[in-house]
Formats: sequence, structure tokens, C-alpha cells
Amino acid sequence: MYNRIYNFSAGPSMLPVPVLEQARDEMMNYQGSGMSVMEMSHRSKVYDAIIKEAEADLREVMNIPDNYKVMFLQGGASMQFANVAMNLMKTGKADYVVTGQFSGKAYKEGQKFGDAHCAATTKEENFTRIPEQEELNLRADADYVHICYNNTIFGTKWKYVPETGNVPLVADMSSCILSEPVDVTKFGLIYAGAQKNVAPAGLTIVIAREDLLREDLPEFVPTMCNYATMAANDSMYNTPPCYPIYVCGLVLKWIKSIGGLEAMKEINAKKAQMLYDTLDNSKLFSNPVKHCCRSMMNVTFRAEDEEINAKFVKEATAAGFANLKGHRSVGGMRASIYNAMPTEGVAALCEFIKKFEAENA
Ligand code: PMP
Repeated sequence: MYNRIYNFSAGPSMLPVPVLEQARDEMMNYQGSGMSVMEMSHRSKVYDAIIKEAEADLREVMNIPDNYKVMFLQGGASMQFANVAMNLMKTGKADYVVTGQFSGKAYKEGQKFGDAHCAATTKEENFTRIPEQEELNLRADADYVHICYNNTIFGTKWKYVPETGNVPLVADMSSCILSEPVDVTKFGLIYAGAQKNVAPAGLTIVIAREDLLREDLPEFVPTMCNYATMAANDSMYNTPPCYPIYVCGLVLKWIKSIGGLEAMKEINAKKAQMLYDTLDNSKLFSNPVKHCCRSMMNVTFRAEDEEINAKFVKEATAAGFANLKGHRSVGGMRASIYNAMPTEGVAALCEFIKKFEAENA
């Protein structure tokens, strides 16, 4: 009806059609307010209800305990690389597990603020797996341990939550938030850019255990970077990213309507399995990630011949499968199959892969 294509972009990426339709229907006059959510004061009564409901729904869907603060911020996940260090480095010591490009950037940012230490990395193996617990060289007196829960570029995912003792665990969940249930109590702080599974770009979600937040940060820390201040003001210290928060609320209602994160996980697991099965049975393409660590959200694959990869991307694009080119740092292909990618989209991609293989093997 809309001539939409299957968009495998790593982010910003597809949003659920019912969400886009509702946003469209409410565009000119949001629930009798006579204006669009884009045009509303963030201090208005109407908007206050929108942000409060989005937070309540996030708490319900993710089962976030009361002793955690939810913040709707800006600056992207990249801003949180610095914010986490500025807010949580009390003694100036933090451990980082480097499993890809973004965790590497977080580690580098952490070094600006204190003694950031690499607790483990799989760089020598081209980030094709996540380290095991025994490989983590953690310090008992660190202020936190930082991990990237799903590695968007390399297509790997932590399948266990690392044991860090009394040291709070901080996780970048930008590319897997809301894809499956997580036990929030195992984390001190979770952050995620919204532009993959939650909303349009511009919103960053931070979920933090209350006792970790403190207003008395070093003088140099900008007020906008102080989590305690942001939380104390219910994300309204300044103008929040109003429209993405509204869409986040619609997405949460959509997730609830299909049965919550358990149901979401079942659908996502099925989609990912379908694609991995196709790749495992392929003589032309393969997925380089160790089976233990395969991501449900980002599936990388490639042929040995770079010309074949280029031809695949070109023909796939022409056939309506957009944004399958792998990240520029790794090449090959990557299919990002977030929550909003329908099962039919993945099934159609699998058929296309088989057809291409038959024609090119
Ligand atoms: N972390 C992860 C896991 C990501 O995938 C991304 C973006 N692709 C980032 C951090 C950076 O996010 P942002 O662009 O919102 O700063």
C-alpha cells in the first residue's frame, strides 16, 4: 500500500508500520490539542502526560525496579561514553571489555577521565566472539565495568551477563534494547541510543540505579552531563527530545500489543535463525561470528570474493532490500533485523540469497 522497501539499515532503521500510521494520524492535531506533538511546549499538560506514560510503559515493558531512574536524554550513545565516566568514576578506576568499535570508543573516552583499563578484548580475533567470564581481568576496586551488550558492527552479542561482584555493570544496549527481556537488576546502568529499536534519532535512554547517581561531581562536569540533575528534573532540566519520546511511547504500546518482550524475543529469535540457517547452508556466503555469540539484531555475512559482495549489494538494492552493505570498517554485508523488520522481510531476503547463490555459485 505504501510501496515500502525492506530496510536493513543498522540505524536509524525501520519503525513499526502501526506506529508510523498513528504518528501520521496524530500529526496535525494530537488528541484534540489542536497541534502536533512537534509544536507543543514540553511543559504543557498534554506533553507531560506523553512523557510520563512513555516512562511508565518503559518501566512496565522492561520490568524496571523502583530504585532505578529512567532518563530521556540527548547526545546519543556516544555522549554517554563520557557521561558514564564523569558520573560513575568515583575513585577514578574503571574496567572496559572491548568487543568492537563502540566499546573501543567508550574505553578511549573513559581514559580521559581516569584509569580506564581494558579487562579483555577479542580484537586479535577480529571481534568474532565475546570473551568468556574466565577471560575477564576485572579489578575488585573498579568503580564500574563497561560492556557493549550487542555489537552492531561485528554482529556479536553477550549471551551471559558477566559476574562483576560488587562492581556495578554498565551496558551499552543501543542495538538490542527492547529486543528481549533483560534482568535490569544485574546492571548498575544501561544506556541506549533510540534510533534502532525505540524511536527516531535524537533520544538516548539511560536507566540507572539510584544509589550510583550523585550531584556533587567535579566542577568541570557540565550540568547537562550530570545524571543526578537530569533524573531529579524528570528529564526536564531543559527541553527534552519531545517528538522521539512520543514515538518511543507509541513503540512501547506496540510491543505491549504483541505480548511484551517475551513475545518480541520469540519473533526475533525466529527471524535470526532463519537467516543464520540460510547462511550456514550457503556455499557462497558465510557468517564469521562464533555460534556462541551470534547477534539476533545484526547479521553479518560475506562471500570470499569482494566482487561478489559488491554485486550482491547492488542486485539486492535493486530488488528492494536496502542498506545491506556492511560497515565500512569490515566490508561484506550486514542485515540489521531489529524489532520492526517483519518476518516476511527476512524470509524474502533468505529467498533472495538462495536465488543469487544459484545464479552466481
Ligand atoms: N553504541 C552502539 C552499540 C551503537 O550501535 C552505536 C551507533 N550505531 C553507538 C553506540 C553510537 O550511537 P550514537 O550515534 O547514538 O552516538
